[in-house]
Amino acid sequence: MTFRAHLQALSASLVLALTLLALPATVSAQETHTLRLAETWGPNYPILGETTKRMAAMAEEMSGGRLKIRIDSSNKHKAPFGIFDMVKAGQYDIGHTASYYYKGKIPNAMYFTTVPFGMLAPEQYAWFYYGGGLELMQKVYAPHGMLSFPGGNTGNQMGGWFREEINSLEDLKGLKMRTPGFAGEVMAELGVAVTNIPPGELYTALERGTIDALEWVGPALDLDMGFHQIAKYYYSGWQEPAAELQFLINEKSWAKLSPELQEILRVAMRAAAYDMYIQSMHVSGQSWSKMKADYPKVTAKTFPSEVIDALRQATRKLLEEAAENDPLANEIIQSQTEYLRTIRQWTNISDKAYLESISKIEE
Ligand code: CA
Repeated sequence: MTFRAHLQALSASLVLALTLLALPATVSAQETHTLRLAETWGPNYPILGETTKRMAAMAEEMSGGRLKIRIDSSNKHKAPFGIFDMVKAGQYDIGHTASYYYKGKIPNAMYFTTVPFGMLAPEQYAWFYYGGGLELMQKVYAPHGMLSFPGGNTGNQMGGWFREEINSLEDLKGLKMRTPGFAGEVMAELGVAVTNIPPGELYTALERGTIDALEWVGPALDLDMGFHQIAKYYYSGWQEPAAELQFLINEKSWAKLSPELQEILRVAMRAAAYDMYIQSMHVSGQSWSKMKADYPKVTAKTFPSEVIDALRQATRKLLEEAAENDPLANEIIQSQTEYLRTIRQWTNISDKAYLESISKIEE
C-alpha cells in the first residue's frame, strides 16, 4: 500500500469514526421533553418552592432547552399530600414532597425524611450517597413504579414553640401540642395530647390557647408564621435532626429520557437539594437574629435531660416495633443505626469538639 493509499484509508476510517461519534449527538439534539412536576407546596413557597424552580432552571440550562420542567403548586393540583399517588399513576412525571407524609400508605417511606435522634444533614447525605441509603430508598419506591432522590434539607429542626417552660416530664402530661407524624406518636407516649392542625390555622390556635405548643420547622420558615410574637420559649429539636425532602419520578417517564438527559436531571436534583440545605442554613441565621432583635423575650431552650431520655426511650420502642413487624423496615433501621454509630464518632471529635472547645474559650 502506498503512502497515499494509507492516507486515504485512514481518512475514510476517521470519517466513519466521526460519523459514528456524531450520530447519537444528532439524535439527542432533537430529543426534547417537557416533564410535569407536582409539588406539595403552595405557589412561591419560600425555600422549598425555590428548590423546585432552581432544579427546573438548571435542568433546562444544562440540556440546552431539551429538558423542560413545568411546575404545578398545590393551588393547581389541589392535592398537596397526593403527590405520591399522582406520580405513581403517571398524572405527573415528577413530584417534590416529603417522604414521611406517606407513612400511612408506605410506612417505610418515613425513614428517608428523618428519624428522631437520628443523623444530622451532612451525616444523612453521606448515608444516602455513600452509605447505601439511596439504594434502600429505591427498594422502597420501586414496587410503586417510582424512583426517589433526595430533594433538599431543612437542616436541624427546632423542637417547637411553647407558651410555658418545660421543666419536667410532668409538664408534658396533657399538654396540647401540634406535632405530626412519628414525633407525634412519640410525644403521645409521654402523655402529650397530640393534635394536627392545618398550617394556616396554627397561629390562631396557639394565640387562643386551643394548643399550648407546636412545632413547625425552624427560624427560616417559622419567622413568617409569627409564632415568636405569642410564644416565648423556642426549644431545640430532637424529632427532625435532618428533614430531607424527596423528588419522586415515575419510572416510565424516566425510561423515556436518554441517559444524557437522565444524568442532567440527576445532577440538577442533587445540586438543588444541597442548595436548599445551604439556603435553609443562611435564612435560619438571618431569621433567628431578627426574632431575637424584635422580640427580646424570646428564649432558646433545651429540654431537660429527663424529657430527652424519655423521648429517646419512646422512639427506640416504636422503632423496635416497626423493625419486628417488617423485614425491610428492619433493614433500613439497621443500616441507619450502624451508619450513625460510625459517622457520629467522627462528628463528635470534629464539629462537636470544635464548638465545645471554642465556647469554653469564649466564656
Ligand atoms: Ca417539623
